[in-house]
Amino acid sequence: MAVQVLPAALAAKIAAGEVVERPASVVKELCENALDAQAAAVAVGVEQGGLRRIVVADDGTGISGTELPLTVRRYATSKISSVEDLAAIQTLGFRGEALASIAAVSHLHVRSRTAADRAAHVLTAVGGERVAVEPAAGPVGTAVDVQHLFFNVPARLAFCKSPQAETQRIIQCVQHLALSHPAVRFTLTVNGREVFAASGSGRIEDVFIAMHGHEIAEQLIAIDEPLVHGVLVQPTVNRGNRTGISLFVNNRWVQQRALTYAITDVYAELMPEGRYPLAALNVALPWEEVDVNVHPQKSDIRLKDAGRIVRQLRSAVRSVLAQHVAVQPMRQHFQSMDSWRSASAAAVPGQSGQAVDLFRPAGAGTTTPENGAVHSAPSAPAELRVLGQLGNMYVIAEGVDGMYLIDQHSAHERVLYEAVLKRLPGAESQPLLQPQPLALSPTHVQWLETHVEELARMGFALEPFGNDAWLLRAVPVFLADKGHDWGGFVVTVIEQEDNPDYRGDPLERLRWVIACHGAVKAGDVLSHEQIMALLSALERCDLARTCPHGRPTMVRLSHAQLAREFGRT
Ligand code: ADP
Ligand code: MG
Repeated sequence: MAVQVLPAALAAKIAAGEVVERPASVVKELCENALDAQAAAVAVGVEQGGLRRIVVADDGTGISGTELPLTVRRYATSKISSVEDLAAIQTLGFRGEALASIAAVSHLHVRSRTAADRAAHVLTAVGGERVAVEPAAGPVGTAVDVQHLFFNVPARLAFCKSPQAETQRIIQCVQHLALSHPAVRFTLTVNGREVFAASGSGRIEDVFIAMHGHEIAEQLIAIDEPLVHGVLVQPTVNRGNRTGISLFVNNRWVQQRALTYAITDVYAELMPEGRYPLAALNVALPWEEVDVNVHPQKSDIRLKDAGRIVRQLRSAVRSVLAQHVAVQPMRQHFQSMDSWRSASAAAVPGQSGQAVDLFRPAGAGTTTPENGAVHSAPSAPAELRVLGQLGNMYVIAEGVDGMYLIDQHSAHERVLYEAVLKRLPGAESQPLLQPQPLALSPTHVQWLETHVEELARMGFALEPFGNDAWLLRAVPVFLADKGHDWGGFVVTVIEQEDNPDYRGDPLERLRWVIACHGAVKAGDVLSHEQIMALLSALERCDLARTCPHGRPTMVRLSHAQLAREFGRT
């Protein structure tokens, strides 16, 4: 075929495909226009997964009759006017493409009226052509009615899923827009039935509850800081995937892996592997630090200093959880432990257990918490009175609100983990008598080279030994007396980089393992002083209630529960 310029109508359909991929993209663009027009209420209605009909009505500023025809012209927008404006976009839309794209692939009616207009006007278009504008009756605001979406693009229509599946995406989309603008009243009607409503109270918690159900109301943890505002949940509320985590940057819903990890990394310390929390967080950044002009659908963005933002987000989440994660009463806890077991068994068969067995020092005898933070403050927390050790596994203690059982291994793991994480004194490195060579492939050598300083700060001293060979010269002091092939171990962890199922950061994995191997074991006899030191170090931890893998460090049997057990109530 010879090179030729495509007819305008065909070019318009191709361009439309980038913006309007499926019915939910239409809903998103129309709702964003309503939000940009300062609407206080947005009513969305869809039929047949949006393929037959999508209506979005708002009470925003409206469009005057004279401007109405412009709105379906490509690159016609009222939101930016210069290239400087692109550097700091404050509206959800700015490309002037949405209405033109939607018009090109549907039967479109737009009825609108501004406060200054005496009457409304209605624009009609079919496949982007035969555009007509007529006066009509109607309130101030805009109602966009999209029918027969993709009627003239059979390829796109074939690509759409079942109406049910498309409806699910639309629900998700409207819920996220409502989360991002809690002061706006949203309703969503599917085939004539209301399936979602957000009250417009201005509280993100209310939208979150409307979305996830009333059962979670008691489990919410609010976060309200200059950088980040929103809701988190207690770790008892968790799911098998990350879809319950909703993230916004400057009130725009974004899908940004790095930001998601900032949250899941922290929760990983509180939950079994393979489980994820619910969250809705808005990150507030200066406009010029966010580039939204990356993709026509605008959910992929670039952040100027992503690394710093991720670090700040992680530490904000961590500190709010540190304040709010409570010790669970025992009975409830046993139930959640069952789900813990089945969840971790399902998620990564044998993986966490395997790591423990593989690297446990051979023939480890009785070890004691003689290192670092455990030793530095030999007084028990004022609230807990130590009663003794149970089965050389658990510490029994009394607190004002009942009896506590503390898992000595999990508790010590938590203490050591935070010591390594925060580089507390005691978490230094100790030279090996015999340096150990590491056998690494070239890609892994590269990883090692970029992380060697970070590894050194954790206590692993490594040095190059010519020809891609490296030597392990020192290990974290917690590991020093646990004779083991730490070189082989470091290699295993680095190789995890290649595993697509592997969650997160190898450095984090190393911290876990240092903590696990450095900690006292179940079966170790502890002296009273050692127990006191352990408990007081535990109390100083940020997330004292779980070990770094999310297992509990302690459970509580309350006085009320005891009274019930003994028939005293
Ligand atoms: P963009 O949002 O990128 O500007 P659109 O194609 O979505 O492009 O919309 C084109 C223009 O139409 C907008 O800039 C705005 O001026 C006007 N508009 C569209 N929808 C609405 C609405 N619901 N209320 C008021 N004005 C609207
Ligand atoms: Mg728009």
